[in-house]
Amino acid sequence: MGFNTVFNSNNLELIKMKRILKKVNSYKSYMETLSDEKLKSLTTDFKLRLSCGESLDEILPEAFAAMREAAHRVLGLFAYDVQILGAITLHNGNIAEMKTGEGKTLTAIFPAYLNSLTGKGVIVITSNEYLAKRDAVEMQGVFKFMDVTICAGLEDDENKMTKHEIYKHDIVYTTQSTLGFDYLFDNLANRKEDKFLREFNYAIIDEVDAVLLDSAQMPLIIAGSPKVQSNLYPVVQKFVETLEEGIDYKKDEDDNVWYLNEGIRKSEQYFNVENLYDDSHYYLVKILNLVLKANVNMTLDKDYVVKDNKIKLLDKETGRILEGITLKNGQHQALEAKENVPLSNENRSIAAITYQNLFKLFKKISGMSGTAKVAEQEFIETYNLKVVWIPTNKPVIRIDKKDKIYATLPEKIIAILEFVKKIHATGQPLLIVSGSVQATDLYSALLLNEGIAHSVLNAHNAVKEAEIISEAGELNNVTVATSMAGRGTDIKLGKGVLELGGLVVVGTERMSSKRMDQQLSGRSGRQGEPGLSQFFVSLEDELLVKQGPRWLEKYRNKKYNSIDEVIPVELNRRKFGSVVEFAQQASDDNGKQSRGIIAQYDESVKIQRKKVYDARNSLLLEEEMDFDLNKTIKLLVSEFLNKKKEISMIDITTFLVNNLNFSNKKIEKFINFKSKKEISEKLIRIIYDECTKVRSIFKNKQEEEDFIRVSILKAIDEHWVDQIDSLSILSTVVSGRTYAQKNPIYEYAREAYESYNEMRYRIKESIIRNIAKSHIERNENGELIIYFP
Ligand code: ADP
Repeated sequence: MGFNTVFNSNNLELIKMKRILKKVNSYKSYMETLSDEKLKSLTTDFKLRLSCGESLDEILPEAFAAMREAAHRVLGLFAYDVQILGAITLHNGNIAEMKTGEGKTLTAIFPAYLNSLTGKGVIVITSNEYLAKRDAVEMQGVFKFMDVTICAGLEDDENKMTKHEIYKHDIVYTTQSTLGFDYLFDNLANRKEDKFLREFNYAIIDEVDAVLLDSAQMPLIIAGSPKVQSNLYPVVQKFVETLEEGIDYKKDEDDNVWYLNEGIRKSEQYFNVENLYDDSHYYLVKILNLVLKANVNMTLDKDYVVKDNKIKLLDKETGRILEGITLKNGQHQALEAKENVPLSNENRSIAAITYQNLFKLFKKISGMSGTAKVAEQEFIETYNLKVVWIPTNKPVIRIDKKDKIYATLPEKIIAILEFVKKIHATGQPLLIVSGSVQATDLYSALLLNEGIAHSVLNAHNAVKEAEIISEAGELNNVTVATSMAGRGTDIKLGKGVLELGGLVVVGTERMSSKRMDQQLSGRSGRQGEPGLSQFFVSLEDELLVKQGPRWLEKYRNKKYNSIDEVIPVELNRRKFGSVVEFAQQASDDNGKQSRGIIAQYDESVKIQRKKVYDARNSLLLEEEMDFDLNKTIKLLVSEFLNKKKEISMIDITTFLVNNLNFSNKKIEKFINFKSKKEISEKLIRIIYDECTKVRSIFKNKQEEEDFIRVSILKAIDEHWVDQIDSLSILSTVVSGRTYAQKNPIYEYAREAYESYNEMRYRIKESIIRNIAKSHIERNENGELIIYFP
């Protein structure tokens, strides 16, 4: 291994880890002498030592050495030193940048094993189910050998385990979405027995940049029953059609749209309201924003298509229809109104979390990727994760050619074809990668014209995808794929390919992020094999049109009458080479910024969710129920009385009738108005009596406690569901700067906090109502039957 000696933080980290590596290596010959039985029994020894106070760091060298020997015996693979360095990085709770083909699957088993010894569980995340299953199957033999339980945590026909059984394993291989939904469902459980997750302890995330950055903002949502549909959408659409940009509304370069004063005035007139931003017009404002966005920011046949009288969204990356995916929070309905198709039902979300917050729940996370270093700053800022670059096992000898740059798209296409034909004639395999489905279709058609047989990969079928990609290294093979296809799948070279110079990767454009480019070129030249990558760029590429500097404009005006006229002329790299970097930087910055904004919005939800879930959990899991009826009643009454300056008889009547088994007549007898204090005392007395009336039916304390527990859970869930839903609506209401110069994130946080306090009040009210107004019977078996109000 030739590490360079430049003094930087990465090298410092490597130097520290190499000391540990040395210790791991020092146990090598000892481990070799052990019998299978003895090797296996080390797991028990390690656990014992942990319980006697040794730390994981202290037993790491022996544990890694034992695992290395076990993997050698079971799989026939002896982990390279660089894999051990990667493994130490993962155990330290950092990100290991390891190139494709360096063996990340094997690397992960070391920290997984070590951390499983604490008995607190380890989760290994891979980006799709196929890979999770494959990795679990490939590695399970080693874990079994070492007496550690492991499974793939996915639900399918083969896997008949319940969630309880799955999460009892020491190590679970799964995907981020399965884990996310499991987490949400676990927190919807109504009984202790229905909860199946342990506290999140340690996660190892493969392709960590894809999970923690690219899909970090994606919320996982459990949708509940449909809401009552608003008929405002078509009306608002009619109104929005009358508006003019620059006069009634404005749009900025980040695709924010908002109403100007004139637009607000017109809407007040149109909908006959006095002040649009009065709280009572909340939904109108929401729909006005959504419909304006649908009209200004979303383009037919680019962002979505209309098919069978329905709106179908398109994947920006691949251009394919996203079946079954709809926009949230009414944006879909706004789009439907715009295109005049029947409005679909809007589902209420009952639980939601983003990946970012899901993974922040772990005590320790770590990750691997071939492309993480370029995003290190964001990893540090968002997750406090360092990125450690791990040297490759053998030096990379792949040649990454400098970009070939052309003024126009036709020139570039012709140049690519010539390049491909020349290489293909030698038998050297080619992987041609584009940023969109349309582009892959185009290159496929052109290749067909030339009579070059090839596979096309632009569908999201992970099994086939991995298969096609893994065969891309065979002699004479040409594969055309979209950039995301088969990420993380190893491409092995076929017979005779090494001699020809390995796999050639052709990038038909530079991708929106440098990380994606690196993923592509990294497909070739694995494990020190030869290889080549060549990117082609035209000034008419989407990346440069959108994010490139303005002065490129004057180079884009060449027109052709026929394809025969096109002669590719390479542009001077000195002049144009840096525009690509410039555009990628801009695009990466945009991504980072929008992720940051989403994270800020999500912060309020995160805090509230934690409080609510903590309350639920202590209710479900703790032996002693922490609930004081008296205190709850007092708080409720005082909050109720403080809601308004003057409390009227009507207010009190409504309160009592809604929450207790009270008729109006009874109330008049009870309440004689004097001071607030007197009302308060009286109310507390009445409510307390009502709540304790039901007591006589319970045979023992346990029954009563169970009843109260369920009453509280019901109350929490009912209002938390509403809260989640209204918070997601709130974000659409405050976004788009409709609040004229106010900071939407601040507005959001403030309103979210207010609504949280309101929710707490409502929960207390519901608890009392559930306790006081429920009807309880016993059936013939003596079991309690509760009818909640
Ligand atoms: P990555 O995810 O880093 O691209 P994989 O985990 O898919 O890599 O492994 C790539 C290939 O290298 C696999 O075929 C694996 O069996 C092989 N491999 C991994 N580690 C070793 C090792 N220590 N010795 C020999 N082969 C290895």
